[in-house]
Amino acid sequence: MGLPEIAAACSFRAAFRARQVYHWLARGASSFDEMTDLPLAERERLSRLFPRIWSSQVASELEDEDGSLKLQLRLSDGAAVECVLLEDIEGRRTACLSSQVGCPMRCAFCKTGTLGYLRDLTPGEIMEQFHQLSSRRGQISNVVFMGMGEPMLNLSAVRAAIAILADPAGPGLSLRKITISTSGIVPGIIDLAERGPAVRLAVSIAAADDDLRSALMPVNRSHDLAALKTALLIYQEKTGERITLELPIMGNSNATVADAEALATWSRPLKVQVNVIPWNRVPELPFVEPTREQVEAYISELERTGLVATRRMRRGRGVMGACGQLGDTLRA
Ligand code: SAH
Ligand code: SF4
Repeated sequence: MGLPEIAAACSFRAAFRARQVYHWLARGASSFDEMTDLPLAERERLSRLFPRIWSSQVASELEDEDGSLKLQLRLSDGAAVECVLLEDIEGRRTACLSSQVGCPMRCAFCKTGTLGYLRDLTPGEIMEQFHQLSSRRGQISNVVFMGMGEPMLNLSAVRAAIAILADPAGPGLSLRKITISTSGIVPGIIDLAERGPAVRLAVSIAAADDDLRSALMPVNRSHDLAALKTALLIYQEKTGERITLELPIMGNSNATVADAEALATWSRPLKVQVNVIPWNRVPELPFVEPTREQVEAYISELERTGLVATRRMRRGRGVMGACGQLGDTLRA
């Protein structure tokens, strides 16, 4: 809840009480007892009014050898979502959050895509993922909407959560440390360009050829590469920001040097950074992981054309918590 919703729900006599409660909730309080600047009688009244603050519960916790933590949250209606905390060598902690239960986009290489779509998450359910991760691992420095779901199809809830994440009274994250990743929903990209917030944008491309991309990412049938590029040019004109292109590459599909060359050609004159993600295995899908040589050749080709390319670290794979692997326990 934002401040107005809290004020309306709690019917305080003094208006500043709503702000006090908002501060506590935005920073992750899980009970009214923690809210020590409220009078005891007020804390008791609120506890009776709202016996539980959080709507979800942690159903399972899996920790990878590399330190990544994957949580499965059971939501109030029994549905489940996953979120992941990734820690890098510099100790930076990134929360990878889900925006929907399942995903309607059905990308051919993605575990979440095989589940189909159940429903959108509320802003509260998004924030609870953040707080649950942070209560276990401490202060989080970055947030990426790269978990389950297509954030652009639930943009109002994602925006509401970002407003809290970026609020200095709450976690106070800089907008530059928050990334929305989309499969390429053109109206969402334009809406974000025009109305903000000025977070970072990542776009999953997979391939720069319409036939191959449509086969891998059905979204391409309604928003093709030309329309996507126009939207990204508008985004860049409005924001001046470099866009990240995400390239999941599969050894038997889109990992050739010619594929890399096509991407380089397509991306001109956008200002981009390419994040190459060697495909993470999903046993039921018909792809194979690329070899090290394939990944290196792909990246070298991008670099030869002058693009900035990085290879995504494969964190969280031991707990099926890496890119595209979420949803293993969804139906548990
Ligand atoms: N729905 C949004 C947010 C999810 S981000 C989006 O698609 O952008 C998940 C990222 O992981 C995307 O870049 C996607 O292309 C990539 N991905 C999906 N399945 C993968 C897999 N099995 N291995 C590696 N990357 C994968
Ligand atoms: Fe959905 Fe993203 Fe997976 Fe595609 S890659 S199915 S958009 S979560």
